[in-house]
Formats: sequence, structure tokens, C-alpha cells
Amino acid sequence: MDSVINLYEADLHCHTTASDGLLTPTELVHLAVELGLKGVAITDHDTIAGWKEAEVAGIDYQMRILRGIELSTEWQGKEVHMLGYFVDGASSYLDDRLRGLRKAREQRMLEILACLEALEIYISVGEVRKFVHGESIGRPHIAQALMERGYVRSISEGFDRYIGLGAPAYVPRYKLTPEEGINIIREADGVAVLAHPGVHRLEAGIPEWVEMGLQGIEVLHSGHKPEDEKRYRAIARQYNLLSTGGSDFHGEGIKPGVVLGGWGVPLDVLNQIRDLAQLNQHC
Ligand code: AMP
Ligand code: FE
Ligand code: FE
Ligand code: ZN
Repeated sequence: MDSVINLYEADLHCHTTASDGLLTPTELVHLAVELGLKGVAITDHDTIAGWKEAEVAGIDYQMRILRGIELSTEWQGKEVHMLGYFVDGASSYLDDRLRGLRKAREQRMLEILACLEALEIYISVGEVRKFVHGESIGRPHIAQALMERGYVRSISEGFDRYIGLGAPAYVPRYKLTPEEGINIIREADGVAVLAHPGVHRLEAGIPEWVEMGLQGIEVLHSGHKPEDEKRYRAIARQYNLLSTGGSDFHGEGIKPGVVLGGWGVPLDVLNQIRDLAQLNQHC
């Protein structure tokens, strides 16, 4: 990897300990300050619990904190992740739906542990919970427990050998449809943005998702190749969608090489998203 990496003004895709990231919201904001970023979006899986702490941490540094969320959906057997920006945290509908998704995550964790047990790998719920600092449990927490117990040497080995797609203890998570994901975000007055479409080649679905209320595409992402950026930037122009960007930062221990601010947008894009969210409120 290059030793010098150009950073963007704002990183619009970051995970914290509220879900499966390694840094607390405060630590994430402090790292962003150290790196000279001007804005970060907190986009944890199925929870908004990281927002407040990040906002408090950002005040002293004039760091722009964007309220976000990432929802996993499924379409034609492919993972489709929807980012929601400026969703209304006071929406009881949003709260209900997120609660349901987190409950399904808990259930799935138990099923994964049972599958591991069948493989003679004995990890207790408590051993996984040690790594869960927020309210949204994910496979990275299980991978960390596997590593601590010496079953694997890295998180990615844990996914490859045991809990990733196609591995023997893989258990699919309850997933929304893309339409449901977009509806949840729009219902809460948020801006729905398709996350990392290049990772699963999702261009065929974009026209119908635009009809359903999709308003942006994550063009820059740590999992995208240069040709993905070109392809999705062109599609965003064609459908008059916002082009966004973010690293999908989880912390070096979870996603090695994915540097905070290494993928992102100029600060002005935050204003464009905010303006769209304000228009959504009046629709
Ligand atoms: P889950 O939300 O429980 O299905 O887990 C998905 C999360 O696992 C993603 O958001 C990433 O943080 C992480 N992940 C997925 N695949 C890998 C991998 N091969 N290595 C490390 N982390 C991964
Ligand atoms: Fe994650
Ligand atoms: Fe994602
Ligand atoms: Zn993510």
C-alpha cells in the first residue's frame, strides 16, 4: 500500500462500536480531527445509537457529523446495502423497524454459534458479547471471539473458514427488500443512497430503486475499482442522483487498509444531502 494517501474532506461511511466498528464514536471523531477531515457520517448497521456521542465529540472541533444508518437488504440473491442520511431519529416507525432488525441479529448469532458447535468449535454467547459494545451485533464480533480463542489468526480468516458466505457456519441474516430499505429511510425523511454497488454489481437494479425513491449512489468506496467509480458516476449522472463516497471504515483490525477519509467527498456534498433531506421533509 502507498505510504501517503490523499484524504477527502468528508468520509460518509463509517462504523463505530455502536455496531461492528472498533472505535467508539468519540475515538472516530478524534481520529477524523487528527487526520484533518472536516466531516464524517456515522453509518452503523441497524442502529443510530452512535450519533449523540459523535456529535458531542465533534462540537469542540467544528467537525460536521452526519446522521446516518446502513441497512442490509437482498435482491436476486445479492447483498444490497442502503445508506440513509438525515433520517429522523425521533421517528417511532424507524425505531420499531431497527429494533426488529437488531433482534433478528441476536437470533442469528445464536444460530451461528450452534453451527460452530456442530463443527466442534465451542464459543459461548458471553465470549462474543465481550466484543459487543453497542446494540447491534454482527459477524465481526463472532470473528473476534474466534480469533481470541485461537481458532483463527485474523478476522478475514474467520469469515473465509467459518462464517462468511459459503463457509460451513454461514447463516443468512433476516434481510429487507431494497424497497423496504428505501421506504424505511424515506418514511423517516432521510436520503436513501445505494452503498458500494460495485461490490456486488448492482447496476441492473438501479432504475427500479430510483422509482422507489433512491436519491444517491456511493461512487467512491474502499471496495470499488477505478472502473466501478467511472461506471457508477455515469449512472448517477444519468439518473440525476447524488454521487457520494465513504471508506466503510470499521477500524484497522476489522478491515485492514481501509483508512478513514481515504474515500469520501468534498464538504459541499454534505450540504447537497442536507438540502435534499430538507426537501424530503416537505414532500
Ligand atoms: P453482518 O452484518 O453480521 O452480516 O456482518 C457483515 C459485516 O461483516 C460487514 O459490514 C463487515 O463489517 C464485515 N465483513 C464481511 N465480510 C468480511 C470479511 N471477509 N472480512 C472482514 N470483515 C468482513
Ligand atoms: Fe460492518
Ligand atoms: Fe455495507
Ligand atoms: Zn458499511
